[in-house]
Amino acid sequence: MTNQKIFDLLKLHASLLELHGENNFKVRSYHTAVFNMETLAESLADMSLKELQGLEGVGKAIATKIDDINQTGTFKQLEEFRAKTPEGVIEMMEIDGLGIKKIKVIWEELQIESLDALLLACETDQLSQVKGFGQKTQENIRQALLYRKANASRLHYAKAEIMANQLEAYLKEQNLSGQFQIVGQIRRKFNVVDEVQLVASTPHDELFTTLNGCEFLEPNTKASGLFAWRGKFKDSPLKVEARLCAADDFAGEVFIHSASPGHLTYAEAGMPTLFQIAQKDKLATEEAIYQKAQLAYVVPEMREGDFELELAKKNELPTLLETADIKGILHAHSTYSDGKNTLEEMAVAVRDAGYEYLGITDHSQSAFYANGLPVGRVLDQLKEIDELNAKLAPFKIFKGMESDIIADGGLDYDDDILAKFDFIIASVHSGLKMSEEKATTRLIKAVENPYTTMLGHPTGRILLRREGYPVNHEKVIDACAANDVMIEINASPWRLDIDWQWVHYALKKGVKLSINPDSHEVGTIGEVYYGVCVGRKGGLTKEMTLNTLGADAIGQFFEERKKKKGI
Ligand SMILES: [Zn+2]
Ligand SMILES: [Zn+2]
Repeated sequence: MTNQKIFDLLKLHASLLELHGENNFKVRSYHTAVFNMETLAESLADMSLKELQGLEGVGKAIATKIDDINQTGTFKQLEEFRAKTPEGVIEMMEIDGLGIKKIKVIWEELQIESLDALLLACETDQLSQVKGFGQKTQENIRQALLYRKANASRLHYAKAEIMANQLEAYLKEQNLSGQFQIVGQIRRKFNVVDEVQLVASTPHDELFTTLNGCEFLEPNTKASGLFAWRGKFKDSPLKVEARLCAADDFAGEVFIHSASPGHLTYAEAGMPTLFQIAQKDKLATEEAIYQKAQLAYVVPEMREGDFELELAKKNELPTLLETADIKGILHAHSTYSDGKNTLEEMAVAVRDAGYEYLGITDHSQSAFYANGLPVGRVLDQLKEIDELNAKLAPFKIFKGMESDIIADGGLDYDDDILAKFDFIIASVHSGLKMSEEKATTRLIKAVENPYTTMLGHPTGRILLRREGYPVNHEKVIDACAANDVMIEINASPWRLDIDWQWVHYALKKGVKLSINPDSHEVGTIGEVYYGVCVGRKGGLTKEMTLNTLGADAIGQFFEERKKKKGI
C-alpha cells in the first residue's frame, strides 16, 4: 500500500463523513492529517501504530485507521459509510465542479444515485430548477459527465506506461520462446492510452497459458482467438491485446502496429507502400523496411504520417531531445503558494536528481485558490532565494513567477515587481470559458508583454477531465516568434500542453520550447520525461529546448533577454 493510496482512502472517508452530515471538525481532522503527511518521505505502510500516533496532526483515531489499512487494506468505519452510499454517488465525487454539498443535494433532494441518472437530469433541465444550481452549473456538469463518459476507458500515458512495463517484465521473467515487443499506443507515446498492445512470435498455446496465468491480467476468452489473446488489466479499464505472428513476420508486424495509417501508406511514386513492404517482404528489422522504401529510419513516436516523412526522404531527421539533455527545472511550486514542499526541499530534490538549477515559479497574487503570493510574500521569497543560493552553490535557484494572465491579458504585478524576477511564465488559470477569439487575444496580449519570458500550458486542458479553451495556435505561436517568447511543454501527465501536434510548427517559426514538470512536490520532478516524449513526437531537438542550457548559460540568457526588452 503506497502513501498515496492511504491518503485516497482517508480523503474518501472525509468526503463520506461530510456527505452524511457528520460534524465539520471531524471532517477537517482528516484533511489536516493528510496535508501533514503528504510531505513524508517514509512509507506509512512500514510504520507501527505507535510511530503513526507520533506523526504531526495525526491523532490516535486516525493512526488506528491507517494501521487497519496496513493490516486489511481498509477500515471498519469507511466500509460502513460506503455500504450506506450508492456507488454512483461516490463516483460523483470525481466529477469536476461537483463538491460534496452539491452531491448531497442531488442525492437527497432529487434522489439521483447514478451518473447516468444525473446526466438525464441535466438533459431534461431538472437540475437547473434546484436551488444553488442554475443553467450554467447544469451545463458545466453535463459537459463534465459527457467528457468522463467519452474517456472512461482511457488512462494517462504515465499510468499506462507503468502497467505496460509491468507486463513486459512479467513476460521476460517467463522466458517466452520467440520474440515479443510492446507496440501500439505505448510505443508511439500517446497522451492518453486505452490499450497495451504487443506482438509476439511465441507459439499460440504457450502465449495463451502465460497470459492466462498472469495474476494482474483478466482474459477475455470470447474476444480471443487464433491470432490474438485479448483481455485487460484487473481493476483497470486498460485493455491488452497480444497479437501472434510467425517468426519471419515479426519485424513487419511490429512495424505495422507501431505507426499511424498516414505513415504506413506512404510510398514513392511507383513503389510499394511502407505497409506493403512490411507485410510481404519478411524483412528482419524495421530499419530494413525503411531502407527498402528509401527512407531514413523514423523512431516509433514520430510515425504520425506528417512532416517526418519528408525529412526521412531527404535524410534530414533531427537528432531528438533526450531526457538526459535537460539541465534544469523551470516550472515548480513550493509551500509559498500551493506546493507541498518548501523552497529548500524543492531545490535540494532538484539538485539531488542531477540538475544544475531550479527556476521556482510560485503562483501570483490573483491566484487566491492556489495561495498566490501578494507582494510582501514575493519579497520574502526573493530574499530566501538569495540565502539559499549562498548555501547551495554551485546549484542555482532562479527567481521565477508563474504569473496569472488576468482577464484582459495583463500580468499580475506592477512593473517594478515584475522586473525583480529572472523570468516569468505567463499562464491562464481562471476565466477558462472563453471563445477562441477571446482566448487568443488574451494570450497574445500576455506574449507581447516585455516581462513574459514563456507561455505556460497554453490551452489549460486537463487530460481526461476537461478540454482546454479553444486557441488559434498559429496566431499565438507567431506572436511568440515575433516577441522572442518561449512556450512550455507542460510535462505533467495531466496536461502535456502545448500539444505535440504544435511542436513542429513552433520549431519552424524558430520558437524555443521548455520542458517543465510544473511540480507541486518533490515526487513529480521526474515527470520531465513525459514532456520529453511529447517533444520528441513533434521533432524537438536539444538545441531548441531552453532548459538544456547549463546554469551559467541560462543565467546569462535571462539577463541578456531582460536587457534587450529594456528591463
Ligand atoms: Zn499553471
Ligand atoms: Zn504551475
